[in-house]
Amino acid sequence: MTIFNYSVDPEGVAVISWDLPGASMNVMTEQGIAEIDAAFDKALGDPAVKGIVLTSAKKDFAGGMDLNILGRARREAEASGRAPAEAIFEGVMRMHHLLRKIELAGMDPKTKKGGKPVAWAAPGTAAGIGLELGLACHRRFAADNPKAKIGLPEILVGIFPGAGGTTRLVRMLGVMGASPFLFEGKMMSPKAAKAAGAVDEVVPADALLAAAKAWVLNASDADIVKPWDAKGYKMPGGAPYTPAGFQTMAGGIAMIHGRTQGVYPAAKALMSAIYEGAQVDFDTAIRIEARWMTNIMLNPSSAAMIRSLFLNKEALEKGAVRPKDVPDMSVKKLGVLGAGMMGAGIAYVSARAGMEVVLMDRDQAAADKGLATITGLLDDDVKKKRLSEEAKAEVLARLTATPDYTALKGADLVVEAVFEDPAVKANVTKLAEAELAPDAIFATNTSTLPISDLAKASRNAERFIGIHFFSPVHRMMLVEIIKGEKTGPEAVAKSLDFVRQLRKTPIVVNDARFFYANRCIIPYGGEASRMVAEGIEPALIENAAKQLGFPVGPLQLGDETSIDLAEKIMRATKEAMGKDYPENAGDDVVQALFDAGRLGRKTKAGYFDYDEAGKRTGLWRGIHDHFPLAEEQPDVTEVKHRLMLAQVLEAVKALEEGVLEDIREGDVGAILGWGFAPWSGGPFSWVDILGAQEVVRICDALAQKHGPRFNATKLLRDMAEKGERFYDRFAPAKAA
Ligand code: NAD
Repeated sequence: MTIFNYSVDPEGVAVISWDLPGASMNVMTEQGIAEIDAAFDKALGDPAVKGIVLTSAKKDFAGGMDLNILGRARREAEASGRAPAEAIFEGVMRMHHLLRKIELAGMDPKTKKGGKPVAWAAPGTAAGIGLELGLACHRRFAADNPKAKIGLPEILVGIFPGAGGTTRLVRMLGVMGASPFLFEGKMMSPKAAKAAGAVDEVVPADALLAAAKAWVLNASDADIVKPWDAKGYKMPGGAPYTPAGFQTMAGGIAMIHGRTQGVYPAAKALMSAIYEGAQVDFDTAIRIEARWMTNIMLNPSSAAMIRSLFLNKEALEKGAVRPKDVPDMSVKKLGVLGAGMMGAGIAYVSARAGMEVVLMDRDQAAADKGLATITGLLDDDVKKKRLSEEAKAEVLARLTATPDYTALKGADLVVEAVFEDPAVKANVTKLAEAELAPDAIFATNTSTLPISDLAKASRNAERFIGIHFFSPVHRMMLVEIIKGEKTGPEAVAKSLDFVRQLRKTPIVVNDARFFYANRCIIPYGGEASRMVAEGIEPALIENAAKQLGFPVGPLQLGDETSIDLAEKIMRATKEAMGKDYPENAGDDVVQALFDAGRLGRKTKAGYFDYDEAGKRTGLWRGIHDHFPLAEEQPDVTEVKHRLMLAQVLEAVKALEEGVLEDIREGDVGAILGWGFAPWSGGPFSWVDILGAQEVVRICDALAQKHGPRFNATKLLRDMAEKGERFYDRFAPAKAA
């Protein structure tokens, strides 16, 4: 064995210790499954073994299943010549048999006597299959490790706990008690996991193994029979057809549907597995869970979510697109120019990540204002127990707020976030570069100005780049890195290393109007305001977006990002494009709101009305004085298609024009950047799910009715003709 170490101590306790070679965290692989199966066979079959402890030789127990397995299983099933569902179901059931073997531990099926006690001893984090293994054991010990997180995060990547975690946890804690783990994917500290009932004992780290062994040696036959294997078992909180259980299920089903709008298949499958499984015996429930798992593994949405939200996101974070031959360029001292909303945010996340930061503004008062913003964020961290007072003091000690350019000496990266004005930006670029070593990198956080133009103010365009953060910086996980015409590989590598230090997700794109994310977001809002101008009911627009799985509708998004920003972008774009500017009746809607002083949430008035506390109270009906409601309203499907294609066509064009170099970045960037329907895996995955032919058909219908902005592109038509998918055509080796 190479993944699981096996030893038996003098008292007869077999210790099965997980230690995946060459990895800092255990993950379950095909070979791992075979080895742990063999290890349990050995321990259960050896008369000298009295009990078993399952633990890890690493600081954590396990990060979960190697999610590549799921993609492989699906591909192998499809290639097997058998019905894919049958092959996948068998694979899932193999896992169940292994866990059930651990749980029954060789006991007599009738008397339930003679089994060997099995304890789970987790030194640190235990996620997914890591915890599911624990749930099959008879007692769970967790080390009192402040860094440990215990839970079942599967739902967050589009699947659900399918190795018995669903069935066991519901039978242990009831539907309500299991919900935070199953439906929210909540990861808990060992103490919280114990309070929630998923863990039995939290012990000091150095006493972990001894405590588990002692329990194993003292456990009685009755101690190792699971409640559901004993006579008279009743589900906590009641099974579905008891008065209490009925209320929970009925409410739960409605809540899940409301939250997911029916577009997340995993939440629905999870609910079905719970509901159906709760009405039958344990072994039948496991088979039901396996059937729903099979259903989910074959669902294209789940496959796309795993690919974008897990595999490709991680690949980008690990430097998939980083220039290979540039050595590590981690940032030590960062300069931030402009201590406004973005500058303060960038300085905050960087100082939090351990960098020394100089935050500059025009005068000391402006710089101090930025510092006050940061202090506010740190205070909030302390209040929410994410940071200790000492750590806060350390972060503050790394920050200098000043108007003095000489403080930038020694900085290896500068990020400029001053006003969106080329002349102001050119001026601060020159002043800052005068203080910097020749090899320092200069970045701009501009959201609209071409990087190649701004680079003209720099002494060296090769070391000049765009690093575009989203607002609020501390919450938004995407960072868009933009290469100007002359940007060199070291500037790209530096930016990627910086983003890695911040633990955010980068995409690297080429320089073109609005780069990638804003290029897609702006037409999304534009299409929505155009519909308002046409007299389409705003509630229909917002609900269509929600049904597509967007976290916020486009009109709400307009209010959040502010109407004056939309007006400013509109004006600047008109000026820059001249007669090429595509006329949009939606501009009149933005103008009307702007003229009425309804600038969005910050003014407590926009597309929506707000109460004094800034809470939305409903859509503003006054808009219809300017743009009367049409007598005939379109079908919701047409509204959905318009909102979707407004974004998807821009994403495809960005690829065709070379702004995007990698569809993985297009998909991951869309979900993290503006919440693009996560269930779809991103715009390119969405096209793959529908099929290019169907997408072209929708485009043709929309173009005929609403104009050439919906024309399908050359690439889409070509793919439709050939029956191709993006993930075959552009990333054959990487497709999951
Ligand atoms: P802001 O107005 O909040 O902050 C700009 C800061 O720059 C102010 O503190 C101002 O005093 C300072 N400043 C102006 N001229 C200066 C000079 N000559 N020297 C030093 N400091 C100077 O603006 P913001 O929203 O933080 O945006 C900053 C940049 O980030 C802009 O380029 C903007 O396009 C970009 N951006 C903004 C967002 C957003 O959502 N607000 C998102 C991405 C990028």
